[in-house]
Amino acid sequence: MRKHIVAGNWKMNNDLKATKKLIKQIKKSIKKIELNTTRVIVAPTFVNLASAVKRSKKSKLEVAAQNMHQAKHGAYTGEVSAEMLKSVGVKTVILGHSERRAYFGETDELLAEKVNAALANKLEVIFCFGEELEDRKAGNQEAVVESQLNKALFHLDAEAFRHIVLAYEPVWAIGTGETATPDQAQDMHAFIRKTLANKYDADTADGVTILYGGSVKPNNAKEIFGKPDVDGGLIGGASLNPEDFFAIVNAF
Ligand code: PEP
Repeated sequence: MRKHIVAGNWKMNNDLKATKKLIKQIKKSIKKIELNTTRVIVAPTFVNLASAVKRSKKSKLEVAAQNMHQAKHGAYTGEVSAEMLKSVGVKTVILGHSERRAYFGETDELLAEKVNAALANKLEVIFCFGEELEDRKAGNQEAVVESQLNKALFHLDAEAFRHIVLAYEPVWAIGTGETATPDQAQDMHAFIRKTLANKYDADTADGVTILYGGSVKPNNAKEIFGKPDVDGGLIGGASLNPEDFFAIVNAF
């Protein structure tokens, strides 16, 4: 059975003190519920990863990084490698977030390199992708998504997909308060699974966890997560509020 995941992307929010506080609050709230097949992940900023990992030990809370560089090491001022993430106990990295693509020029070709570096270091990848508003308006969303998967991931073999989580995030729904309808999310997730089945095989397609991201809030999570091909969410804004994040986790 596919794992469900609720992952909070904290982006450039929360200093060390706030990180410690939020981790404590989330740990306390998830202790109260039976998580069953659901994994709960938070992604603090780089400087707070080591502390977050330490404070999440002996709990069910997992910690991910928001990005990494594709090179092993070297003269890349300001960057962080997969090995560095591993050395502080991080096991998962988010790659390809639309903000990385839009503000830092990350292309699918570059992301393919990052994915390779992450997998070579045995990091799990949460790979984000999704169409812009113009693509959706023109009815091109499936072609765009297929092209992103093709360029960034489809050089991998089926076995590698055991370490990949997909996060479909329509760019027009991120941080805008506008959400894809549960049916729009389901249609796209079903399309992604069909694309995986065509490229690889039905078992691989069935086994991949596909998250939805884009203004998931406590009031819409249950309906979105209720769709058969939606295996959880990548949560931005609402993951900064412990009550809202817990309510979203609890929507499963
Ligand atoms: C995100 O940044 O991945 C995201 C989904 O943000 P929000 O939930 O705020 O739309």
